[in-house]
Amino acid sequence: MTAIEAIASVMDEGEIVRESTQVEKLSKDYYWYSPVLAEELREKRAEAVIRPQSYQTLKRALEAAATARLPVTVRGAGTGNYGQAIPLNGGIVVDLSGLNQILHIEEGKARVQAGTKIKQIEKEAAETNQELTIYPSTFAKASIGGFIAGGSGGIGSVTWGNLWDGNVLSAVVMTVEDEVRLLEVEGEELQHYIHSYGVNGLLLEVTIPLKPKTDWEQTIFSFPDFDSALTFSQELAAGALRKRLVSTMEKGIGDFFLPLKKSIAGEDHLVFTETSETERTDVRELAEASGGRPVYESDAASYRKGLGISDFTWNHTTLWALKADPQWTYLQNFFSPDTYKSQIDTIKARFGEDVLFHFEWLRDKGTLLPAALPLVRYTSKEQLYDVIAFFNDIGAPTHDPHTCLLGAGGWNLQLEEIRQRKETNDPYQLLNQGKLPDKAVRDEALSAKQSS
Ligand code: FAD
Repeated sequence: MTAIEAIASVMDEGEIVRESTQVEKLSKDYYWYSPVLAEELREKRAEAVIRPQSYQTLKRALEAAATARLPVTVRGAGTGNYGQAIPLNGGIVVDLSGLNQILHIEEGKARVQAGTKIKQIEKEAAETNQELTIYPSTFAKASIGGFIAGGSGGIGSVTWGNLWDGNVLSAVVMTVEDEVRLLEVEGEELQHYIHSYGVNGLLLEVTIPLKPKTDWEQTIFSFPDFDSALTFSQELAAGALRKRLVSTMEKGIGDFFLPLKKSIAGEDHLVFTETSETERTDVRELAEASGGRPVYESDAASYRKGLGISDFTWNHTTLWALKADPQWTYLQNFFSPDTYKSQIDTIKARFGEDVLFHFEWLRDKGTLLPAALPLVRYTSKEQLYDVIAFFNDIGAPTHDPHTCLLGAGGWNLQLEEIRQRKETNDPYQLLNQGKLPDKAVRDEALSAKQSS
């Protein structure tokens, strides 16, 4: 019996996918946003995909994989951008979309299975007059487990920070070994599972915080110059007015947003906001003080009906740019809150229209940061890494989205602790093979961390 046949023999009817087109599709994520990864990962795929509908069959399948020493790669909805969910060495993909129950919602928190779509959690939380703290712009498709294991932040991060900032309260983790175990993880230890690409265990259940629901209205403001758009963005993001989204787009980016054409065609620099409907006048006065005026408005009653403005922010901005011109790609950078405007000037002086700025304001460990997902016109890998080096040299460090290596491109991950959990939870080193960098790369990251 082959390893895949052994897995199939312990699964229930319909829980294994072996048809080639389906396996190919479920072996891939949105890695093609990066021209570098598009080249490197195109041929990678699993031998089969399993879609467990219960913990019992998942447990049996993982024990069979451990016995056969078969590589295992976990998948939520496959919307990651770094090839995190792509198996590098074949084996099986474990698609967790069938484990999607909302287990419990109470005041201040929700306990859900990892395959649950984020949109569903927000919907059910609303019935208790609560809402999520943070979620990615892909929330309609993405799973909560995939966001926690593969994402970072998103809508809400301007107020509540990133995943590491208390936005995960606890998790149940399944190991991969001869007899798999379930671990209850909470407190500081959670940091070793957040954004760990599932290299050290499968998140099966998570508890996340909820906050009292706000009536959000969506507004796009236009500004005559980028400096004023940034000033308003920073003031709104830093001040006491309630907000879920503050997204600043340099002139030119709005041209990619075809569904918004009627409202924003011909406008200059844009700021996309989600703010409390009860504070409308204050938000407008703040925008007007910097020379801004609203060009698109959608009241709270229309929130979640059809496309929202967040569908043009975070990494959706790159998607619209790519639809318009496949030569665009993107970076992820933290700018200095004190000198970001001069950093922008330095970059524009060097690259002109080949870099278009798009900022997402967020809190990181309590500090408000101008985080950018700038669009970059791509010509070659060498050119791209020259641009990255330039950004890094002027103090706008890059979280490199053109590698599938965990932590190699940033986020202050505790790689050594992640590795230690892997030793015990995945003794045969089967989980998401090839994503945890080897020791030399980890040591380099550690010494960079210590000297910074
Ligand atoms: P997947 O892509 O399936 O998986 C992500 C990683 O987690 C993989 O390494 C996978 O192996 C692992 N994994 C999945 N489920 C589990 C589990 N249960 N246990 C252990 N490991 C697991 N990201 C953001 O952070 N913020 C954004 O605003 C954002 N915007 C985006 C916009 C677009 C248009 C696109 C294409 C992507 C965007 N992303 C963003 C990236 C991605 O959508 C999110 O991180 C998303 O939350 C991933 O969820 P998923 O279910 O698709 O995970």
